[in-house]
Amino acid sequence: SLTGTNLHLAFGTNKVLRGVDIHVDAGDTVTVIGPSGSGKSTLLRVLNRLHEPDQGDILIDGKSVLKDNPDTLRQQIGMVFQQFNLFPHKTVVDNIALGPRKLKGLSKEEARTLALEQLELVGLAHKADSRPGNLSGGQQQRVAIARALAMKPEVMFFDEATSALDPELVKGVLALMADLAKGGMTMVVVTHEMGFAREVSDTVLFMDHGAVVETGTPEQLFDKPQTERLQQFLSQVL
Ligand code: ATP
Ligand code: MG
Repeated sequence: SLTGTNLHLAFGTNKVLRGVDIHVDAGDTVTVIGPSGSGKSTLLRVLNRLHEPDQGDILIDGKSVLKDNPDTLRQQIGMVFQQFNLFPHKTVVDNIALGPRKLKGLSKEEARTLALEQLELVGLAHKADSRPGNLSGGQQQRVAIARALAMKPEVMFFDEATSALDPELVKGVLALMADLAKGGMTMVVVTHEMGFAREVSDTVLFMDHGAVVETGTPEQLFDKPQTERLQQFLSQVL
């Protein structure tokens, strides 16, 4: 499990996280929703220690990790962003094999085999030797997901992974994410896709101004929102 407790972070005088609690059980998917600027991306960056929290704790399986080397936690978390950040001059399979070779010390052959397995998983084995630029945005995002999975992370973070995609390509990526969730991957998903949040999440967090305003099952949040703030947000996005 991954837990963040009472997480605070300020940039100067801008208090971006004001005591956020989040808990993801192994195999569960937690979705984070909320308006632009509410601190969703910052929460993910604090949870993988790209920013150190001013206050609060981060725990893996109940044990605090803040005294450990940040790289240890980062290697346990796979990140997928809006931008795919693939290397344009490397083939698809080499993009995926790079991390396992450099960071896990796999041989060239081992890394290629692993990369091909991950490509198979995202339905793109036939694109192994293409360059990213010759793939659609949706295919590139599936490659980025395969690249993260190749590091065998304990947890996957998705930050608006479908926001940069053409509308007709969104479904395929969401379906892959739903498959991962059903397959038992532990996931934290920041998304504007309310259909995904409702169908796939075990827990939904609604954030506003750096705080979790409501949390619960998708049914609780979408069908019985308790606060005016969430009601208002849902009326804008549904
Ligand atoms: P969106 O839905 O638009 O992606 P968000 O919920 O992900 O929004 P964040 O990106 O976490 O919001 O930003 C929250 C606040 O933190 C904003 O006020 C933003 O300007 C500020 N912020 C984020 N990153 C930094 C940074 N590196 N330095 C200073 N301020 C930052
Ligand atoms: Mg964001």
